[in-house]
Amino acid sequence: MALENKFSEVAENEFYSSAYAKFLSEKKLKGSKCKKCGHLSVPPKPICPKCQGSDMELVEMKGKGKLAAYTVITVGAPLMIEEGFDREHPYCSGVVELEEGVKVTARVLGMDTTKPDQIKIGTPVTAEYVEAMHGGEKKTFLAFRAL
Ligand SMILES: [Zn+2]
Repeated sequence: MALENKFSEVAENEFYSSAYAKFLSEKKLKGSKCKKCGHLSVPPKPICPKCQGSDMELVEMKGKGKLAAYTVITVGAPLMIEEGFDREHPYCSGVVELEEGVKVTARVLGMDTTKPDQIKIGTPVTAEYVEAMHGGEKKTFLAFRAL
């Protein structure tokens, strides 16, 4: 019984964003799957956005998909400027549709951001885990790289 309690406590915590960040640092992309309706969410959510069910399980994504939408950002958030992105070095933010059928927003690498019109919707991409220093702290970010 004690073990069971411990397990459910861990399982519940897994849905919080700090846990998602930890999975990323382990180079794992995880989402939540609703046991009631099968809806997938990445990052994981404690409540199903489709049916409001709360019986969720974690599932690991393969990290493969295709570019569904993108924007090239020349004036980035302060965190991005800290990483060296600016008007001359724009970055690409995209929506990737994973093989599992769920869409996830992330930075897209390996695109020529100075020629945004050459970036093609449907480009196959694979998940990449980028480590960057933000505010003196090492963090892992999800990105996708064009194959
Ligand atoms: Zn659901």
